[in-house]
Amino acid sequence: MADRLALPGFVNAHSHAFQRALRGRIEGGDFWAWREAMLDLARGLAPGHVRAEYAAVYGEMRAAGYTAVGEFHYVGFGEAEAALEAAREAGVELVLLFAAYARGGLDRFRQDSVGAYLEQVEALRDADGRVGVAPHSVRACPRDWLEEIGRYAELEGLVLHVHADEQPREIEECLAEHGVRPVELLAETGCLGPRTTVVHATHADERELDLLAEAGARVCLCPTTEANLGDGFPPLEGLLERKIPLCVGSDSNVRIDPLEELRELEGIARRQTLRRNVVPVADLLAAGASSGAKALGIDEWPGIEIDLGHPSLRGVSPAEAPAALVHGCGADVVTSSREG
Ligand SMILES: [Zn+2]
Repeated sequence: MADRLALPGFVNAHSHAFQRALRGRIEGGDFWAWREAMLDLARGLAPGHVRAEYAAVYGEMRAAGYTAVGEFHYVGFGEAEAALEAAREAGVELVLLFAAYARGGLDRFRQDSVGAYLEQVEALRDADGRVGVAPHSVRACPRDWLEEIGRYAELEGLVLHVHADEQPREIEECLAEHGVRPVELLAETGCLGPRTTVVHATHADERELDLLAEAGARVCLCPTTEANLGDGFPPLEGLLERKIPLCVGSDSNVRIDPLEELRELEGIARRQTLRRNVVPVADLLAAGASSGAKALGIDEWPGIEIDLGHPSLRGVSPAEAPAALVHGCGADVVTSSREG
């Protein structure tokens, strides 16, 4: 139809759906204070609640144009099954990035051993879920867990997602424990390869960026969450110079709008470089769709349609629509999803 623009669906490569409930509740306080509130919320989750709440959050994502989601899940095994059901109900392609958690956090996050963790991964795969492995972070997983999970992911051809370099304190603790920085530890333990997505990399140094590039790994940026939590600016120039593939995630779900994530990404790059058009529109849209799909290891996901008659696009020609979308629209221009 002439008044519709068909696009690939957006891919949300990093979500913690339960954290949607925190928006507005815990402004004030630093990252670590936010984390305490997040832990309080996580304590009260149960599968029935997850099923209902996640279905609502995934429904919002679908309406905003995200048709595939990577749920980085660390709140329990029964809740993982409930998340898969919620996604089916909402009609989003879900890849469950099931987190390994050895230490810290809450009891419900943790497995007794890396063997027990991998048994849970196998059970989810047997239950027909699309699953990736996700050592939560170098905070939560010691070296031997990382080695075992890296080996398993390689053997099984699974995607591996991991948080790294989000906060300076995590890097200081990693240096104190291992004598190397988080991405260096991931490289040493076999967790860095072409199927790896490092989430955030906010404080990655030059050496860590080199390692990401050499491994062919990908970085998932979550600009609205990183802004909300005061994480810092991602090292965009260093990432772009090295051609490290980027994708985006709504992470804490303080906002659910893929266009806003992409606009923030480019906005940060412009402020940092004092240039415009740092990431061309086509590359931004690819970061929001096909690159996210690669991060999740999926080949097919539903497409979307944009309403070219929406007031935000009034007077914009179809040829200009992609740039107008990224730079001038919110997700309410997404009119429908179509089967892709
Ligand atoms: Zn996260």
